[in-house]
Amino acid sequence: MNLYALVRDVKDFPKEGILFKDITTLLQDGEGLSESIDQIAAHLENVEFDSVVGPEARGFIFGVPTAYKLKKGFIPVRKPGKLPYQCVSQTYDLEYGSSTIEMHIDAIQKGQKVVIVDDLLATGGTTKAMIDLIERMGGEVVKIVFLIELEFLKGRELLKGYEIESILKY
Ligand code: IMP
Repeated sequence: MNLYALVRDVKDFPKEGILFKDITTLLQDGEGLSESIDQIAAHLENVEFDSVVGPEARGFIFGVPTAYKLKKGFIPVRKPGKLPYQCVSQTYDLEYGSSTIEMHIDAIQKGQKVVIVDDLLATGGTTKAMIDLIERMGGEVVKIVFLIELEFLKGRELLKGYEIESILKY
């Protein structure tokens, strides 16, 4: 099935000059959603790991069904102030300004092997911040899977040394 045909391009979102890859059209399609999760999970079937880590909000959409399918746990990474228990946080640079992500302090144990699942790899900044957070807690990132990779933004260069897979490449 052609998953590319289910991703919608939205011009000038969230600001002028950006061509946004909109995955809501793929989510609306039962076959497309199922195929997306199957393909993400297929990249992780032979990987030894304990949990899937996924960032708010689209990382939840693809991360949880992947974890469910592989019978693994799911660890949410969220924006500040959303998680109820004690958190560790990581601040990272954006094109303009900075952003912060958080994870519960007891979400990852020393030596725990995790994979990261997210909808889209752009510059890699968000993923790099998650890796830093996971490693500060003593966890090990054994693989990272994205539904979409914007290859022209060269996110892989920022994530050098990590095993990365993506389903749809632009
Ligand atoms: P990065 O940190 O630059 O790699 O940006 C990745 C994050 O931004 C992902 O979590 C995406 O959800 C979001 N993102 C950036 N560009 C797009 C897009 O074109 N479509 C959907 N999400 C995007």
